[in-house]
Amino acid sequence: MPLYIHLTIHFVIALLAGYLIGSFFKEKRRGIIFGILGGFFIDLDHVLEYFFVFGPHFNLLYFFESRQFLISEKIILVFHAWEYVPLFLLLAYLLRKWKNVKVAFITLAFAGSLHLVSDVFINGYYFRYYSLIYRYQQEFLAPNLLPSAIYQKNLDYKEELGI
Ligand SMILES: [Zn+2]
Repeated sequence: MPLYIHLTIHFVIALLAGYLIGSFFKEKRRGIIFGILGGFFIDLDHVLEYFFVFGPHFNLLYFFESRQFLISEKIILVFHAWEYVPLFLLLAYLLRKWKNVKVAFITLAFAGSLHLVSDVFINGYYFRYYSLIYRYQQEFLAPNLLPSAIYQKNLDYKEELGI
């Protein structure tokens, strides 16, 4: 699936998630803002990962080829984790006195989990792939984390790119 379609799916689901939670709490604008943050801008960790690997030398083509993952053979993805869902819900509960904070955390949790579910299906990864604890246990190593057919495809792609 081309990246722009993948991103469009994320954006539409994020917007919808934010709209739904926002309407429920009669805070539509806040819902939409945090829906897009949690369900769309969550992907900014791909950019972070790029800088971890390449330092401050940005190359858009490399980025779109996902070279950062191919070169490091590691997948950290700090924002992509189921673990944030219960954490955000707990924070929403503890800080429930402030309705705006509560709505923000509930929306982040909801939009974030929908993002991860759609990533699992679109990418064909395992559910556990999006656990930060699991990735840590596997030392973030791509060959341990990816289904073997997908890992093999990455190796072929590396060869094609000559890296
Ligand atoms: Zn994602």
